Amino acid sequence: MLESSLLRNCQGYINGHWVDADSGKTLTVYNPVDGATLAQVPGMGPEETTRAVEAAREALKTPASLEQRRTWLNGIVQALQDNREELGRILCMEHGKPWKEAQGEVDYAAGFFRYCAEHMDALAPRVLDEKPRNCTWTVHYRPAGAVALVTPWNFPIGMIAKKLSAALAADCPCVIKPSSKTPLTMVALFSLLDQALDLPPGKVNLVTGSAGPIGDTLCDHPDIRVLSFTGSTEVGRELIERSAPQVKKLTLELGGNAPYIVFEDADLDAAAENLIGNKFRGGGQTCVCANRIMVHESVAADFAERVKARASKLKVGDGLEPDTDLGPLVDRNGYEKVRRHLTDALDKGAELVMGDVPPSLENDWGGFFPPTIVLGVSPQMACWKEETFGPLVPIATFSSEAQAIEMANQTEFGLASYLFTGDDARAQRVIAALEFAHVGYNTGSGPAPEAPFGGMKQSGYGREGGLEGLFEFVEPQTVPRGS
Ligand code: NAP
Repeated sequence: MLESSLLRNCQGYINGHWVDADSGKTLTVYNPVDGATLAQVPGMGPEETTRAVEAAREALKTPASLEQRRTWLNGIVQALQDNREELGRILCMEHGKPWKEAQGEVDYAAGFFRYCAEHMDALAPRVLDEKPRNCTWTVHYRPAGAVALVTPWNFPIGMIAKKLSAALAADCPCVIKPSSKTPLTMVALFSLLDQALDLPPGKVNLVTGSAGPIGDTLCDHPDIRVLSFTGSTEVGRELIERSAPQVKKLTLELGGNAPYIVFEDADLDAAAENLIGNKFRGGGQTCVCANRIMVHESVAADFAERVKARASKLKVGDGLEPDTDLGPLVDRNGYEKVRRHLTDALDKGAELVMGDVPPSLENDWGGFFPPTIVLGVSPQMACWKEETFGPLVPIATFSSEAQAIEMANQTEFGLASYLFTGDDARAQRVIAALEFAHVGYNTGSGPAPEAPFGGMKQSGYGREGGLEGLFEFVEPQTVPRGS
């Protein structure tokens, strides 16, 4: 079991109280390194979720001033900073990512609360300069209501930080549902919210348990006005359908299939170095990591060797070991998917540059998948069409700028993309043609708290981060006043 001062209450949190499931049911959380049981969390369902929504609705009746909300946000920044090591340890043990990387994720999370605290004056009422119809016009940014925040396992604290920071800034009470694979980081965050902040009961609520019944309750309940979801496109589609009868506002941060385009005039060492950071972060289990590496045919073999030289230095192991770069994949399904993508690519003619096909997993918990590189990838291969979510680097080639653009856009996803070139005019043409909401230009960098991030096409809608993200949970109310 995972002993931690932040996990004294391994429970849900409703209306200011730590609570178990009504049924007494629990879910077990495993360490993907060895399958050891880390903890049990409540296996809640519709009843507890409904009570959480009711508590959130009641909390709406005691609005907080901008200054009060800023104080809360800054309080969370401080609590995250003070507990980054311990939060990182919990995150590392339930997810598998290296402890040092997990602490970086805590810093990233703190950045969202800090950004909202610093910029929330943008939510103050705005009086228009113009006076149409002889009236003075004021726009108020009202809290949208009680909101539901549903998060995935791959960034156990980063993803909730994006949502919770903007929801608290907007003064929206929340019902939060974390992934059942990684709920402990969320419980630890609630422990900090409970101890360090003076939040009114019902302002933040946590339900853990079966996704279907909890999700259905959140979609069906009329008092949930915004459902903010990060996860797969498949589940996102279900939420759209389920919440349609109520015309509920959704923010959807869904799957990706990122192209990473390297032109022949690029700095190949910089492109290779950036790819290592981009591709192997979180074991390759991120929505923004390069999924289709596309390299000009004249430099593809050279580029593959440069990536191999760097990837072969990565140490795979338990994330708690200080020199680990790459932890285990989160579970058996995740491991077998990467293995399937690799065998499919090799069967269809790809060439192995680094690694080999590892054995199938016999256990349900995660497995260590070594960094693997294949060259000669084509659009018929599974690794081209689907998110691999693992440390497989599939390299395809192109012969012209037009072909690179066509290949990159050949997906229903539109989340992150990257291009490397030494020619700025070419870069500007390619960026304008890419149907992706994030385009890294000579960098493998993903999102930052200061900038809006989200998806085009079937990667979702709505934005998190930046000023755009700050406005996701408010309803503008316009008041023309006659003299
Ligand atoms: P997932 O299976 O869609 O689950 C995401 C969350 O939704 C989890 O909390 C899950 O709970 C819950 N859920 C599952 N079915 C539900 C339902 N019917 N109703 C309501 N909630 C439901 O995704 P995942 O495997 O955790 O995460 C990986 C995916 O997230 C990838 O596709 C990745 O690209 C995407 N992602 C996108 C972004 C972005 O910013 N666009 C960021 C990170 C990840 P349980 O765990 O209990 O099943």
